[in-house]
Amino acid sequence: LPTTSSSLLDGLNPPQREAVLHRGPALLIVAGAGSGKTRVLTHRIASLLETREAWPSQVLAITFTNKAAGEMRERVRQLVGHASDGMWISTFHSACVRILRREAEVFGYASGFTIYDSGDTRALLKRIIKEHEADVLGFSVANAGARISKLKNELVDAETFSREVNLADPKEAMFLTIFREYTRTLQAANAFDFDDLIAQTVYLFRAFPHVAEPYRRRFRHILVDEYQDTNHAQYALIRELTKPAQNLPGASLTVVGDSDQSIYAFRGADIRNIVEFEQDFPQARVVLLEQNYRSTQTILDAANAVIANNFDRKPKNLFTADGPGAKITGFTGYSGHDEAQFVADEIEQLHRDGTEYREVAVFYRTNAQTRALEEILIRSAVPYRILGGTKFYERAEIKDAMAYLISVANPADALAVRRILNTPKRGIGPATETQLASFAERNGITFRAALRHAKEIGFGPKVAKAITDLSDLLDEATAMTAPPEPDMAPIPVFDVLKLLMQKSGYIDVLRASRDPQDEARMENVEELLAVTKEFQRNNPDGQLIDFLTETALVAAADELDDSSGTVSLMTLHTAKGLEFKAVFLTGIEEDLLPHRMSANEPGGAAEERRLFYVGITRARERLYLSLAMTRNSYGETSVSAPSRFLAEVPADLIEWRQSPGMTGPGAGGRVAGSLAWGSSSASGAGAAAERPKADWGANRVTGRVRDNGDLELAPGDRIRHDDFGEGRVSAVTGVAAKRIAEVQFDTAGRKRLLIKVAPITKL
Ligand code: ATP
Ligand code: MG
Repeated sequence: LPTTSSSLLDGLNPPQREAVLHRGPALLIVAGAGSGKTRVLTHRIASLLETREAWPSQVLAITFTNKAAGEMRERVRQLVGHASDGMWISTFHSACVRILRREAEVFGYASGFTIYDSGDTRALLKRIIKEHEADVLGFSVANAGARISKLKNELVDAETFSREVNLADPKEAMFLTIFREYTRTLQAANAFDFDDLIAQTVYLFRAFPHVAEPYRRRFRHILVDEYQDTNHAQYALIRELTKPAQNLPGASLTVVGDSDQSIYAFRGADIRNIVEFEQDFPQARVVLLEQNYRSTQTILDAANAVIANNFDRKPKNLFTADGPGAKITGFTGYSGHDEAQFVADEIEQLHRDGTEYREVAVFYRTNAQTRALEEILIRSAVPYRILGGTKFYERAEIKDAMAYLISVANPADALAVRRILNTPKRGIGPATETQLASFAERNGITFRAALRHAKEIGFGPKVAKAITDLSDLLDEATAMTAPPEPDMAPIPVFDVLKLLMQKSGYIDVLRASRDPQDEARMENVEELLAVTKEFQRNNPDGQLIDFLTETALVAAADELDDSSGTVSLMTLHTAKGLEFKAVFLTGIEEDLLPHRMSANEPGGAAEERRLFYVGITRARERLYLSLAMTRNSYGETSVSAPSRFLAEVPADLIEWRQSPGMTGPGAGGRVAGSLAWGSSSASGAGAAAERPKADWGANRVTGRVRDNGDLELAPGDRIRHDDFGEGRVSAVTGVAAKRIAEVQFDTAGRKRLLIKVAPITKL
């Protein structure tokens, strides 16, 4: 056999090399953050290819988020070139969707099945709970949904559950009813929820060995990144795929993980998977990596000190051969807006000093925190994008447009068809909808098929015509998606969507509206059209269901535009496995981090601490920890307290710009540990004065986004900014809503402002 070339091994330390070169059925790599686990995985893949021990198609590499999968693919491509195209490098969910699209017909699903996102499942649960008046027994969408999810991740389906449940307990009996109905509705809609994607693939493999067999033979080398966060169903899937492969000579399973970064227990992730790996795979080799190549020693010292407060872990100390680097910067704002302004100002400073925007990330614990950040970033014209949070796809107009596409791809999905039945308004009311639904049920046909019978059902002529028109439109679009001849390329999704949006009148209604919100909605629909274009460019043979799959899976990353040149905003959960030159950890407050909800969970605080640890260890050079004394949520202002985790970071590592110990508006609130507001803090209040007073204008705290419409500005104009004072415009770039002015302020330095929303007046 050819050997692994030195070029693949050069950039690796001895234990990393060992992990790349080890041959045997099972390999476990455990190591702290930034120690090169992912790097070892990619080099190992390259090594297997180079020595011809594996064909690209025999490699299955799994990681946790789409973003991480994309990065892994990129790293592999850099090592092996286009051989990487034939590999499956994906998340568990995408891999399972691919398998289910091909195989689900064996157990009664059509390959055009819909993937329900959390919004869909919430809507469904809400309906079920209401119908059964289950709320009186204490059921909510949240608790019923969480329990169903947990059971599915344990591979317990409704039928299995019905055999275990104590029906004498009315609550339990009700839960069974909900679980059953939920399952039944999904099946009838030819739909899977996210948990199903994994669990159903496991069932499929277990129930139909002849289906599983080709995959078992094919994937001779399986590599799993972030193994600490696999749950039971995912683990079972790996077992299904590797079982017989263990006997195949040369096959291998490699898993890498770090128990200190396990942050998905709430989704059923099981740290035991790491602990038990050696029991499950007795011949497994274990490799430990210790040296960190990502962060400065200061950042690692902070991470080590924080995580040391978790019990029940093997002591582990991250170290680097590089120097201590810069101190961590701390900042306490009066409000969330103030904190956001600090973040924006600091990002601009970093940018001026040569850090590219894409090298900067801002993390937060909850999505609600983004609003203030976004507002300020927009005003400061800092380019950013939000990762994770399928935000774009959660907007009503996007859901509408997607529902049109889903109605075409999956006629069984009654939820989708019902969504568009009277959207835009066609004069079809709830009574008509109910009649259609019962007609469908009586005749054993889908809701969509029932639309074709509007005349028979006996609606008035106007309503009947509206229904028939919709039905015809859906049929026309469906015909477009089926290529006339097998070898012909399908009609692009773009054209299908455009037809649907135009002929349904959806676009016309938005266009005719005077509501400024509708203008934004229109832009979003156009953005979705642009997404379909982009999709077609990347997947020339891509069909409608491929598009729907891709969009359903943008769970954790890949927002719309490409990431070049923008600051990334994301939750701490999404940040896993990524790295940035500068990282802002915001909202380091009690109730946010640790999150309020974690108090009720056993081990909740420890998991929150790991989350903080994950955040810290993403940073290469600069780390910022910030918090706010007050926060607005749901229209109310509340006083917050510094996170207990903040006190776990050695004080001498942090340089406070504005410390929790300062006095100021809102100070003197609650007490939490030694870092109470208003008390003299360990890190000293002396630094508080560093920030110019003028920048603190209280008006900013309550500032709201304004609309300057089409304010004319040209280089040379003088303006006044609410916060920065007077200045001179040096350049104007961009068009329409995205016009940006570069302003040299008399005292506040140079800033880029989005003209539309910046608080400016022309002088
Ligand atoms: P995490 O736990 O956060 O997922 P990880 O263990 O997967 O981290 P990597 O992302 O693989 O770590 O590596 C962290 C950084 O260190 C990367 O930029 C990687 O390229 C670099 N790195 C890893 N090993 C080496 C090495 N031997 N020499 C130089 N750089 C390295
Ligand atoms: Mg990694």
